[in-house]
Amino acid sequence: MKVKGEGGIRFISDSMLGKVARILRLAGYDTLYSDSWRDKEMIRIASKEKRVLLTRDRKLYQEALKKGLDAYLLLGDNPLSSIAELSISHGLKILFKPETSRCTICNGEVTQIEKRKVKGKVKRGTYENFDDFWQCKKCGQVYWLGSHWKKIKEEERIINKKILSMKAKKKNL
Ligand SMILES: [Zn+2]
Repeated sequence: MKVKGEGGIRFISDSMLGKVARILRLAGYDTLYSDSWRDKEMIRIASKEKRVLLTRDRKLYQEALKKGLDAYLLLGDNPLSSIAELSISHGLKILFKPETSRCTICNGEVTQIEKRKVKGKVKRGTYENFDDFWQCKKCGQVYWLGSHWKKIKEEERIINKKILSMKAKKKNL
């Protein structure tokens, strides 16, 4: 199986970190997320699947460390800053490309599909205005580089700017 994302690092994220999980998926990192997991379940999955556990909960974080897991405590309110922190600590590349992104809905792998195959699955205007489409292999969600993509690329730019300034600050300490 093809492992996407740098070095194949995988994550499991707690229910407070929906936006963080979404960004990691866009950047191609396999990231599990659910709003119904209990702490024990998250620890069990992280341990079984060797995933880095991401949480805002100190108790869960300490518990994960005790079990010898790789865990990261994200305390800030700004998900873009959290991603920048995580990128520095775990050497992640935050680049959004449709060919390497994972489905933001289900974490499935996304693959390019022929335009004719999305006919009827997207609005007519979308079909007429775009030629490149991608589809999640797992849930079937169709993606294209519409207006939302501009927002996503803007987030990518902000995150990478934050990474640079965080790195510069560290050097100056
Ligand atoms: Zn999907």
